[in-house]
Amino acid sequence: FRFAKPINEPVKSYAPGTAEKIALKQMLGQLSSEQWDIPLIIGGKEIRTGDTGKVVMPHNHKHVLATYHKAGPKEVQMAIDAAVKAQKEWSDLPWVERASVMMRIAELISTKYRYAVNASVMLGQSKNPMQAEIDAPCELIDFLRFSAFYAGQIYADQPYSDTGILNRMEYRALEGFVFTLTPFNFTSIASNLNLAPAMMGNTAVWKPSTTAIYSNYILMKIFHEAGLPDGVVNFIPGQGSVIGKVVTQSPDFAGFHFTGSTGTFNTLWRAIGENLGTYKSYPRIVGETGGKNFIFVHASAPAEDVATAIVRGAFEYQGQKCSAASRAYIPSCLWANVKERVGAMLQSIRMGDVTDFTNFVNAVIDEPSFDNIMDYINYAKQSPDATVLFGGNGDKTEGYYIEPTVIVTTDPAFKTMSEEIFGPVITIYVYDESQYEETLALCDRTSPYGLTGSIFARDRYAIDKAFKLLRYSAGNFYINDKPTGAVIAQQPFGGSRASGTNDKAGGPLNLVRWTNPRTIKETY
Ligand code: GLU
Repeated sequence: FRFAKPINEPVKSYAPGTAEKIALKQMLGQLSSEQWDIPLIIGGKEIRTGDTGKVVMPHNHKHVLATYHKAGPKEVQMAIDAAVKAQKEWSDLPWVERASVMMRIAELISTKYRYAVNASVMLGQSKNPMQAEIDAPCELIDFLRFSAFYAGQIYADQPYSDTGILNRMEYRALEGFVFTLTPFNFTSIASNLNLAPAMMGNTAVWKPSTTAIYSNYILMKIFHEAGLPDGVVNFIPGQGSVIGKVVTQSPDFAGFHFTGSTGTFNTLWRAIGENLGTYKSYPRIVGETGGKNFIFVHASAPAEDVATAIVRGAFEYQGQKCSAASRAYIPSCLWANVKERVGAMLQSIRMGDVTDFTNFVNAVIDEPSFDNIMDYINYAKQSPDATVLFGGNGDKTEGYYIEPTVIVTTDPAFKTMSEEIFGPVITIYVYDESQYEETLALCDRTSPYGLTGSIFARDRYAIDKAFKLLRYSAGNFYINDKPTGAVIAQQPFGGSRASGTNDKAGGPLNLVRWTNPRTIKETY
């Protein structure tokens, strides 16, 4: 059995006057008027610990969307036990039965729950309708349908058998549970970090990001409605350090699937290393972490394309994508032209609440993020080596709003050129176009990351130079396009260096990591 190759889920426009816009507006109104009480879900059962936190809207932080319950060590162990218990039956199912659950989840998101999923991401994570649309629903639907498709290819991939011999490969699940620590910025990724291992027969203990609990909980409910058996994914919001400690000390710990900051990934990796003797196998560790993604411009590039890439690459979703453009190298001969165009585009951009669909920029995720981003901007304001060219102001009285900010520096190693900020800030270094190759080499060594990057040029030799000199600077390399918006199955996503293990989410490589293959030889 093989699924036909899926096509990417069509993106709805939510343009003025469309039925989809009316439906989404209604859903936003409905969800904002309710207040939920979000439990843990362990082995299919709802558990309320009474140790609670609040979910607020980042763009209106006095508005409480929900209360959520936090897991303590006891509930973490319950979640581990539920995952271990569920695994035998789940992994024993023919793979196509698991795939059909994934297809059903995708179908429910694409139809019945499309607006609820979109609206929950808009309200809980402060995305405009288009940014929410390309996350969950669309990217998540793509993850699911392509996982089912690729799983068919993986299971069908069998070794060659010589005369007198039968060789087989059994793609077992990992022996134990998978721990997933998931990010706020993409609900598609948060869901897929659980569902990709589940497709391959694994079960998961899921600690969602505290700032994405709202949409993540809705998805968790949809998984169950679609027929995901109890205990396959166990939802335990709470404090990362409490949960991580119990999980990494469990003898049943078999894998870690992560998207988030490099610092958190390193902390978990160290904890896993310290407990190595405890586990049955070496755990699978798959993580996508930070980035300091570049737009590198050659003198032959069209200034208009560069300006669009800067504005979209750096400021969509307030720069809170691992892939967001956060530094740019512009040749001095193009600078005046690019600067003027970026300035004009920023003038026409609106910032505000998600419910006004004309707002391109919404709020950053929470107060610690707001403060951290503003610290970087203020550092640049005070430095003799930098100028804040556009934006630079923030206001957190009602929502965590920060203007799209462009910094220009004369120091290619300036703090905001090399450190990840995760906000609507891009730093520009203007270089002398006679120094093209030297500046490419500089770009490569300025940050420890290797996630995404773009080269803009019409000159093919210039593109080839960048291609070679920036070989390890980006796991997703774009030619004449912004460095964000990787599409499932088209641009499998991930980078190396300090950006992660590069197991390419959205492609078959990631799924293979969630198998523990047994080679079987039989003679006849
Ligand atoms: N896949 C996303 C993109 O290409 C970024 C993923 C992330 O932020 O982790 O824009």
